[in-house]
Amino acid sequence: MGDVIVVINAGSSSLKFTLYEERGETLGVLADGQVEGLFTEPRFKARDENGNVLAERTWPPGTQLGQEGAVEAVFSWCGSETCAADRVRAVGHRVVHGGSRYTRPVVVNREILTDLETFVPLAPLHQPHNLAAIRNIGRRFPGVPQVACFDTSFHAAIPPIAQAFALPRKFAEQGVRRYGFHGLSYEYIASVLPGIDPDAAKGRTVVAHLGNGASLCAMRGLKSEACTLGFTAVEGLMMGTRCGSLDPGVMLYFMDEFGMNARDLESLIYKESGLLGVSGISSDMRTLLESKDPRAAEAIDLFVYRIIRELGSLAAALGGLDALVFTAGIGENAVPIRGRICRSASWLGLELDANANEAGGPRISVADSRVRAWVVPTDEERMIALHTQRLLPNGRNPTAPGGADLS
Ligand code: ADP
Repeated sequence: MGDVIVVINAGSSSLKFTLYEERGETLGVLADGQVEGLFTEPRFKARDENGNVLAERTWPPGTQLGQEGAVEAVFSWCGSETCAADRVRAVGHRVVHGGSRYTRPVVVNREILTDLETFVPLAPLHQPHNLAAIRNIGRRFPGVPQVACFDTSFHAAIPPIAQAFALPRKFAEQGVRRYGFHGLSYEYIASVLPGIDPDAAKGRTVVAHLGNGASLCAMRGLKSEACTLGFTAVEGLMMGTRCGSLDPGVMLYFMDEFGMNARDLESLIYKESGLLGVSGISSDMRTLLESKDPRAAEAIDLFVYRIIRELGSLAAALGGLDALVFTAGIGENAVPIRGRICRSASWLGLELDANANEAGGPRISVADSRVRAWVVPTDEERMIALHTQRLLPNGRNPTAPGGADLS
């Protein structure tokens, strides 16, 4: 039995995990699962690599399990059932913001953790939960190295002009710039694209990561040149509950006219807007596609319209387009959304193959379409596991600060 790398994706209301087993040169999935409803009605589920349920547990409504309780639930299960604690070689985490300093994954120590706390205001929905999971696991497994993999790193080398806001330059010096997010997803797509569309891998591709969070990334030769997400994970496209780009004057108006403060605005633009706010029904695309309510249709129309406009913008930044790749929950599954986006991109030279789109691809453009369109499932967890493994190259890496006290 090989060593195990645990990948953790800790959010505000859930903790997702994947256990990878080192099998020779490859990483096999031993199990994955999640604890959901951390503050409402917690539910734990673990599955094997074929999707068979290995374990389930529920807590009474109102149980405040929190991140700490979720970590406890996951590791007491995996210690007793699937992998002994001494097989856990390292834990890799998705951490949303690495700022300008963390341009690649790092083994976390106390100093780095303190540093990463300074990015909490830049990613209030994600960063505190990502870091809480690192702390909680550090308490439970003080000897196990933990690796932080950042959603910003893939975009670290975007050209200065794509980073810049037209603000007085002193703010750029203080780190106020476009960073870009969903980098682990884009990095995964970049890693598989040469095998799917070698010409696009050498050329100009826009990847559409359309999940609860949504963004587009412009790549040239597999390197990020621009991303619709910016300083925080709220810029750009309309998302499940986030508004995307907004005239900044709207925020000033709300402050002056409605007496809203920063916390009110944070809640408004991160949690109450997007598909949820516009439809007044749900943040979930599947629910909206099934709804007959005209407000659901309006929310979907705006979601698609914003993507079409931003796609044009990124194609302009790249000076043309060779391929469009759809990924994440909506990108991989929502046939009508892909269809509408592709049809609207006919001016770029993309010709949709409607049957292929219906069948889920992978290629959803006709054979002689000048711009190819693809559906490629993303795998951020595997990317995190690979980074974690790479940082610990020689078995139990003696130089890794595994025993760091992170509390
Ligand atoms: P997250 O950003 O939380 O990882 P996902 O990538 O899982 O989110 O995407 C979630 C979104 O994908 C939801 O809006 C969900 O409704 C949508 N989705 C998942 N499956 C389908 C489907 N079959 N048809 C339409 N939308 C889908």
